Amino acid sequence: MSTTASSHPPELTRHQSLVLDALTREEQPASAYALLDQLRGEGLRAPQQVYRALDKLMEYGLVHRVETLNSFVVCAHPHDHGHGPAVLAICDQCGHVDEFADPAIERRLKTWSRDHGFRMGATTVEMHGVCARCGTQAAA
Ligand SMILES: [Zn+2]
Ligand SMILES: [Zn+2]
Repeated sequence: MSTTASSHPPELTRHQSLVLDALTREEQPASAYALLDQLRGEGLRAPQQVYRALDKLMEYGLVHRVETLNSFVVCAHPHDHGHGPAVLAICDQCGHVDEFADPAIERRLKTWSRDHGFRMGATTVEMHGVCARCGTQAAA
C-alpha cells in the first residue's frame, strides 16, 4: 500500500502514456477494450498490456477505476497525486463523470475505519444519478 504524496510526476512508460492519452481523449469512462481499440495502431495488441498500464496509472493516482461501469476515467486532479478517496458523480443518462475529493468524507471514512479496525485501501465512492445538464433537458 503506497501513500506516496510526492509532488514530482511519475516517469511514465510509452504504454502508460499512450493509455493515459487515449483515456484523456475519451472524456468519458472507457473500458480497457475501448482503449485497446484506440491503441491498436500504436502497437498495443493484448488487453493485458492495457490493464498493466492502467494498474500503474491508478497506482500513480492519475486514473480511477469506475467499478460500477467496469471502466476507467482520468483523475480530475492529476497534480494532486494521492488525494484522499475520490467521489465520482456518474450520470446514468449521458455517462458523464464529475470527480471531487472532500476532506470531510475522507475524515469520516478514516474515523470509521479506525474505530472498526478496518484498514482502508484505495477508495472511490461512486454516486449514480442525473447530471445538471441532463436534468435540465428533462425539465425543459
Ligand atoms: Zn482523482
Ligand atoms: Zn448527464
